[in-house]
Amino acid sequence: MIMNLHTHTHHSPDGAPQTVADRVQAANALGLKYMAVTDHVEINRFYPAEYYNAVETEEFFYDGRGVFEGSVAEVIAAQADCAPLTLLAGAEIGQIPQDVEKSALLYNDPRVDLIVGSVHELPGRPDFYFLDYAKEDIPALVTAYFEEVLRLAQTDCYDILAHLTYGLRYLPNRRAYDLTPHLDLIDEILKTVIAKGKAIELNGSGLRKPQPYIDPDLILVRRYRDLGGERLTISTDAHDTKYLGFGVDLLEDMARTAGFSRLTVFQKHEPFYVPL
Ligand SMILES: [Zn+2]
Ligand SMILES: [Zn+2]
Repeated sequence: MIMNLHTHTHHSPDGAPQTVADRVQAANALGLKYMAVTDHVEINRFYPAEYYNAVETEEFFYDGRGVFEGSVAEVIAAQADCAPLTLLAGAEIGQIPQDVEKSALLYNDPRVDLIVGSVHELPGRPDFYFLDYAKEDIPALVTAYFEEVLRLAQTDCYDILAHLTYGLRYLPNRRAYDLTPHLDLIDEILKTVIAKGKAIELNGSGLRKPQPYIDPDLILVRRYRDLGGERLTISTDAHDTKYLGFGVDLLEDMARTAGFSRLTVFQKHEPFYVPL
């Protein structure tokens, strides 16, 4: 088990109450070589709810700054005693195109090894998790999602583009959704990631569902490879220690099936390859 470069701890509002030290212990028990802690920073809600005259709800996390500071400090402290694991500090920044300036500040924080960049929401809309899909024009919604991911890909505030098909995750019949009409836009995203020297991830959180899937689908991972993509990471997006290694073997298999013989790690944003 080589890596898990996208994980959440108790600092994330939706994370289980487990410390970084708990995760390090579990990672070493699993034989993971690299683990990044990437707690949630929704950059469009960087300050506490009061700043926005809002109330914290299940739908909206606030205080990304507080999460970032707490999480990174705990990871840096844990790095002193994590061997043989290499423990990496970072964050999952949501909605980067909505505040590139603040995202860049976090990206350039000297303590940070890597940033996972995500689109969980379209501007002015809730997380895709909370949409009522019966009321949505789904192809238009998915197009808007990929357009926002392209805007994210065009920034310099991430190392790993997270869960490329997050906008599909909660569709009523996700696995049957036909991506063909979106392939030109997806190619543009992938080409942008490649040109910038960034990576995409194989995100295994969908493997925990009754109808399991990997995000993105194999067809898109192959497309990335065919376009010249070489930088690939693996993550379970675990919010609980019990999922730290869940499905990593399947993710590694998919990477090999798509033609990859090595994976990528980022340390202080510098990429290096590890054999698969
Ligand atoms: Zn995410
Ligand atoms: Zn995540």
